[in-house]
Amino acid sequence: MPDPHHPLRPQVPPLSAPELLALDRQHVWHPYGPMPGRQEPLVVASASGVRLRLAAPAHGREELVDGMSSWWSAIHGYRHPVLDEAVREQLGRMSHVMFGGLTHEPAVRLAAKLVEITPAGLEHVFLSDSGSVAVEVAVKMCLQHWRSVGRPGKTRLLTWRGGYHGDTWQPMAVCDPDGGMHELWSGALPRQVFADEPPAGFDAPVDPAYADHLRTLIAAHAHELAAVIVEPVVQGAGGMRYHAPGYLRVLRELCDEYEVLLVLDEIATGFGRTGALFAADHAGITPDVMCVGKALTGGYLSMAATLCTPKVADGISRGEVPVLAHGPTFMGNPLAASVALASIELLLGQDWAQEVKRIEAGLREGLAPASALPGVRDVRVLGAIGVVQLDHPVDMAAATAAAVREGAWLRPFRDLIYTMPPFVTPDGDVARICRAVVAAAREG
Ligand SMILES: *Cc1c(COP(=O)(O)O)cnc(C)c1O
Repeated sequence: MPDPHHPLRPQVPPLSAPELLALDRQHVWHPYGPMPGRQEPLVVASASGVRLRLAAPAHGREELVDGMSSWWSAIHGYRHPVLDEAVREQLGRMSHVMFGGLTHEPAVRLAAKLVEITPAGLEHVFLSDSGSVAVEVAVKMCLQHWRSVGRPGKTRLLTWRGGYHGDTWQPMAVCDPDGGMHELWSGALPRQVFADEPPAGFDAPVDPAYADHLRTLIAAHAHELAAVIVEPVVQGAGGMRYHAPGYLRVLRELCDEYEVLLVLDEIATGFGRTGALFAADHAGITPDVMCVGKALTGGYLSMAATLCTPKVADGISRGEVPVLAHGPTFMGNPLAASVALASIELLLGQDWAQEVKRIEAGLREGLAPASALPGVRDVRVLGAIGVVQLDHPVDMAAATAAAVREGAWLRPFRDLIYTMPPFVTPDGDVARICRAVVAAAREG
């Protein structure tokens, strides 16, 4: 057993909540935040199951049911005994070794598992440390593939509007160019090709006019396009919109016809969230390249993966530089790989699809009252994702406070109050999250 009181371990007195918040404000950037911070974050002391335990009560609540799964990732909730054990076991062997010239069982088994469960034909796996990097690697794979096969002019990307692919440079260039978080950089980013937003609605029939729009754009730019990159079925942080899986089949056919690679960014949708294990499964297609992240480690550690087909890998291997020149320091991190493997096995070892359906039913029922509220434009549920869209920008402080008073943690953005709870959320807690969303919609 590790000794928690190792003589070399400094004994640091815990910070009081006010001390912590003062230091936080003074020194610590938060996502998409100003410096110093304007809104006071809640201090989380611990988390377990689907509950976050606060260091100090907020609006009378010491515990909040987590409606966000820590941004799509904590699908099994917090401190899951199986996942805790996987990390502890791996810690007893090694937390990290470099991946250049060395390999190890957790990374190899994880890669093989990903190949097994993702759409047939994806055979090769590049492990990296975050979703944005996985997208960078996907783009690099595609550009390098074309360069290697003698078509170096194919360097641009096509996507549809309303997307989100991360915050590093290439991903930013394919995020929604208007009104999104990266609009500021539109003059500095590589200029990509944008199609209109895909028509809304998971169940809507494929609109032939929109399919034609995609065809026209892809045909016109095929000579310079390395890849089409989209989020399949659910566009997440770009606007929480759903579209029909049929558009993915349209893209697959067009990409084949015009010799463009298809990249699916499943970083938010992967591992069951939309009701299929991967959103591509709704359409029954295999992309040339696929990115996963977020729920990959069950929310425990930062890891992502980029998978590709032998066609993409062979193209790269035939080039003048026959290697993929990418190698993050923490590539294949054994702790993250171990917990990822445990998380996938935990997911597949249960009737996860039934659990997602159960949450979907709870969200449909619990969010229905929001439709009747003034200022609500749309209420939509797909899999374990529930969205209330307002007709005005949400008042973050008021909406968050309303949710906390109901005992749930939500993080609205733009005109959206949304939830994607852990799959283990019991019905009563799903109902509580829904009450919080409705309250936030009323007061935000
Ligand atoms: C979150 C997200 C990313 C970026 O992942 P990070 O781990 O935050 O870098 C990329 N694509 C999609 C679809 C995402 O939801």
